Amino acid sequence: MTNPDWYRTSFRRNLVDMHIEDWNPEFLSQFDPDKYYENLVRAHVKSPMIYLQSHVGHCNWDTKSGHRHQSFTDCTKKMQRLFDLCHQGGMDVVAYYSMIYNNDAYIAHPEWRLRDINGHGTRFDNSKGQYFGGSRYGLCCPNSPGYRDFVLKQLDEIFDLFTIEGIFLDMLFWTRPCYCDSCKARWKAEHGGDIPTVVDWNDPAWRAFQTKREEWMLDFMMMITNKIKSRNPNCSVEHQFSTMMHGWRQGVNQNVAIASDYCGGDFYGGAQQHSVACKLYYNMTANQPFEYMTSRCYPGLREHTTTKTEDMLRLSVMSTFAHHGAALLIDAIDPKGTLDSRLYDLYGKIYSDAEKLEPYMEGKLVQDVQVLFNLEGKYNPDVNNAAVGTPRGNDDSSPHTAAVMGACRSLQRMHIPFGVFSNWKPEKADGAKVIVLADTYDLPQNAVDYIEKFIANGGALYMSGRVNPALVQKLTGVKINGTIQAPMVYLAPTPAGQPLFTEHNRDYPFAVTCGMQNITLVDFHGEILATTVLPYAAPAQDGELHPDADDGFDYTAPEARFASIHSNPPGRFTDTPALIKTTYGKGTVVYSAASFETLDRPATAPLFANIMSLLKGTQSWSFVSNAPQQVEVIEFDVPEKNRHYINLINSQDSFQIPAICDFDVSVKLDAAPSQILALPDETPLPFVYENGYATFHVSKLPICNFYAIEI
Ligand SMILES: [Zn+2]
Repeated sequence: MTNPDWYRTSFRRNLVDMHIEDWNPEFLSQFDPDKYYENLVRAHVKSPMIYLQSHVGHCNWDTKSGHRHQSFTDCTKKMQRLFDLCHQGGMDVVAYYSMIYNNDAYIAHPEWRLRDINGHGTRFDNSKGQYFGGSRYGLCCPNSPGYRDFVLKQLDEIFDLFTIEGIFLDMLFWTRPCYCDSCKARWKAEHGGDIPTVVDWNDPAWRAFQTKREEWMLDFMMMITNKIKSRNPNCSVEHQFSTMMHGWRQGVNQNVAIASDYCGGDFYGGAQQHSVACKLYYNMTANQPFEYMTSRCYPGLREHTTTKTEDMLRLSVMSTFAHHGAALLIDAIDPKGTLDSRLYDLYGKIYSDAEKLEPYMEGKLVQDVQVLFNLEGKYNPDVNNAAVGTPRGNDDSSPHTAAVMGACRSLQRMHIPFGVFSNWKPEKADGAKVIVLADTYDLPQNAVDYIEKFIANGGALYMSGRVNPALVQKLTGVKINGTIQAPMVYLAPTPAGQPLFTEHNRDYPFAVTCGMQNITLVDFHGEILATTVLPYAAPAQDGELHPDADDGFDYTAPEARFASIHSNPPGRFTDTPALIKTTYGKGTVVYSAASFETLDRPATAPLFANIMSLLKGTQSWSFVSNAPQQVEVIEFDVPEKNRHYINLINSQDSFQIPAICDFDVSVKLDAAPSQILALPDETPLPFVYENGYATFHVSKLPICNFYAIEI
């Protein structure tokens, strides 16, 4: 039996992609388990994830159920040798297996194929008008009984031949709605009728289909998880969860977290995405640490010979470590089966530094502000009546996701301690000083109930945009009457709200391009902090102009005239409230009719931070800092040891990351600390303790700094 707890102390991981075909006898012919292992040692890897199969479908073992990689000679023996070397070296082995994406199975079994609305498989030629893209990737449907039997047989073969601590199942998501015969039959049996063909979030049938897609993916994942646990209950299971914040098309909500021992996935979006993903994983995962993967290739896996700089790789690893997560770096094998050992030397430099921080990977993330990510809000409520397969029907944008990212951006820049939690486990926000609902439409009832109770009991809440109208009305006494239709709207501070706004005032209000809700006061007893301003509206021309007929411009259209040719300056000042503050039960609520936090503008973060400060009232933030906005501050507390950790990240996306110098960090403590130590050397630092905060100076932040504070 393998160690079921291997992942709890494993923070340095790697993966080598091996999606290699076998039509050329050279392919994988030079795969050498001893050289592969030497590279892992060089890289200071604790837990390698190793390919037993790939999107191509070829198995790296002597399979009976599938297709063995033909040019990878003696692959079973070589893989067993590699796994043995890893185990002898104290490493944990995680097997990689690609689900759904399997070209061999796709080619051999047309009846297993995922089918688009026109009945085409995923490799169908793009020029013939289908929507999968005519690609290299052959996808099998997780509802296909034959494919389901096949993957269970494959898993049995793996457990018959190999000893593994864990297994990673890749690609557990729908790329698009599937209309294969298996899906049609399952829909008919479980729901009745035909699968809807029009995206419409107001249509109960469409919504039922989306729910089914999430349930079916969970069902497929649980079948796999249960199979693995039946073969080795100690074997950890991780299903691909990079899809956590992706759009509705993938049919992913909390289903992946339910089916996995820990959450993880691969990301390519830079420092801000990294920060948000780590925080949401932290609150989603069944067990810590979560895993954050990214490639060594730049800008992504498409460029095999372009590698990220040391600064970029170090930032990636250390950002994960700063969140007490496990870092995984993805390389891709050369087609002939070799690896570039120079890269593993570079990994080794970074991972050997990271390893020194592992004794301090303990405690709880400090999350004064908790931003809710609604796993059921990963769609655009403005896109309806859109036929599946058309560009609009393929739209999987989410204004809610954009607003969450924006809220987090402001909190990070203003050094306000924050976390990200989901509707699935709202109780993760227990103890938060402020909860944020950023354009959080369609919030499920369990989360609505939690929020109401949280506020009634004395919590503070910021809401914006299209939060469930009934919840907004209940908590604030204002009614939402749909979205204001205008090319631009403005938030104009009232005298009461002016202190929140830094550079904007009534004459120069805050411009909003992400829409504004039209609200009326029904039973409102609070303060109005800003009102709505609309651009000048010109009446239609009355015919005094006589343009040429071939001009083509409609001079009589209402929008034909304007105030200023490039922009829509504020012109119509209304009394319609746009930003309000009120109380509910023992709690405080601020509602903004516009989710202005979506907008990446210089004034956004200061305004958002001022609203957060207003909401926290007399409570103190757990830390504050005068650092530049590029510095992220993260705190973990270990109450049983009277210890706090402060982790600093220089979150600049650049090939070379310039150091940030000379700023202070102040940490709220009930008593003066005995010492503040720079990690991992535990060098004592001078500090000042006053007004309940211990303040220390950071003279230089290269990419990351870690500190321990002992009371
Ligand atoms: Zn299907």
